[in-house]
Amino acid sequence: MGLVVQKYGGSSVADAEGIKRVAKRIVDAKKNGNQVVVVVSAMGDTTDELIDLAGQVSPIPAGREFDMLLTAGERISMALLAMAIKNLGHEAQSFTGSQAGVITDSVHNKARIIDVTPGRIRTSIDEGNVAIVAGFQGVSQEGKNITTLGRGGSDTTAVALAAALDAEVCEIYTDVDGVFTADPRVVKKARKIDWISFEDMLELASSGSKVLLHRCVEYARRYNIPIHVRSSFSGLQGTWVSNEPIEKNQQGEKGVEQAIISGVAHDTSEAKITVVGVPDKPGEAAKIFRAVADAQINLDMIVQNVSAASTGLTDISFTLPKTEGRKAIDALEKQKASVGFDSLRYDDQIAKISLVGAGMKTNPGVTAGFFEALTDAGVNIELISTSEIRISVVTRADDVNEAVRAVHSAFGLDSDSDEAVVYGGTGR
Ligand code: ADP
Ligand code: ASP
Ligand code: MG
Repeated sequence: MGLVVQKYGGSSVADAEGIKRVAKRIVDAKKNGNQVVVVVSAMGDTTDELIDLAGQVSPIPAGREFDMLLTAGERISMALLAMAIKNLGHEAQSFTGSQAGVITDSVHNKARIIDVTPGRIRTSIDEGNVAIVAGFQGVSQEGKNITTLGRGGSDTTAVALAAALDAEVCEIYTDVDGVFTADPRVVKKARKIDWISFEDMLELASSGSKVLLHRCVEYARRYNIPIHVRSSFSGLQGTWVSNEPIEKNQQGEKGVEQAIISGVAHDTSEAKITVVGVPDKPGEAAKIFRAVADAQINLDMIVQNVSAASTGLTDISFTLPKTEGRKAIDALEKQKASVGFDSLRYDDQIAKISLVGAGMKTNPGVTAGFFEALTDAGVNIELISTSEIRISVVTRADDVNEAVRAVHSAFGLDSDSDEAVVYGGTGR
């Protein structure tokens, strides 16, 4: 008998019908002889609604209370799902993250899992139950406060539990048929990927393909847990994310070779801050980025312009999550006198477009092809950054959809068969 961890995202349990449909699917997995641990997200857009609600009572809600509020979303879905499974004549028990042994650090709103002690889950499944765990939440080791793992964090809960329970596979059920070569909401001709390496998936995820959270992929790679991303609305095989091509997938077919380009990702959740008129001398950039780091803000791209010799001043731009914009500006304003810059510019009308693929290392011309595709689409590039297997650019937010489609076509990724299906969700 195998142990599987199944994670169902918010769009899969958006309403009572969805919960009943998912319950049936879980019972089928149980009937097939598996022990089943389920991780569930909050229903539909519940988390967004709770965030909006918090904003109505306080512009900057206290981290501890914010986490307490958000975890309520997953409590609702886990209890309803357990009820629906019992209604089908099978045993199920729901558990909060804390009860499931998800131990985190103390950073509210984006806690990291530091340990998983799933004793109660193990006992529950050994007694014949389906164990349902609330995703996205844990309890801090110090202080025993309730924490959340950051948006999309249920993916990480699922992989962390799969690792702690030594599961055979972690199945991530969502509202599309797997990982595609681009977001199917933007590119109708996106193609489903049968297999993708952890390495490429990590880059896609950190570049904005929110179908999997990058932290979850990081975790899966560290513990070598294969992930199967698939739709909870169809019976189709999805995408396998693993170290090596899966030799045989569940239909007994051979795995596939890795493509040169895995896909195009886009991200509209970032903003750009430009620090204008920074004295061009050693130590200035360090002071700027120390101020931002001390505010616990993670940066993405960083660009420094060449200073004009006559002024001895330069501009430094960087991108960061929009949600951290206010905090970063406040932290930098405090350093204005000590750094001696002129002003700060904040721009949240940007988008990042990334091309990802391990084949880039050995195929010259990928960067040129990427820029040519953007030029042909009339899209202006504002910032550029690269890794060994990724090229990213920042453009105007208004250009993002057209740019993604142009790049997708230019690299021959368009599918010539059916259009990609999006089964649910609002894409919010
Ligand atoms: P869930 O609620 O199941 O966690 P998410 O909304 O977090 O679902 O993630 C699924 C969504 O990710 C899809 O509906 C799709 O719009 C988006 N997405 C972005 N990039 C990709 C991609 N490359 N492949 C598949 N889906 C993608
Ligand atoms: N409900 C949380 C969110 O919307 C966690 C998750 O869905 O993974 O971000
Ligand atoms: Mg998600």
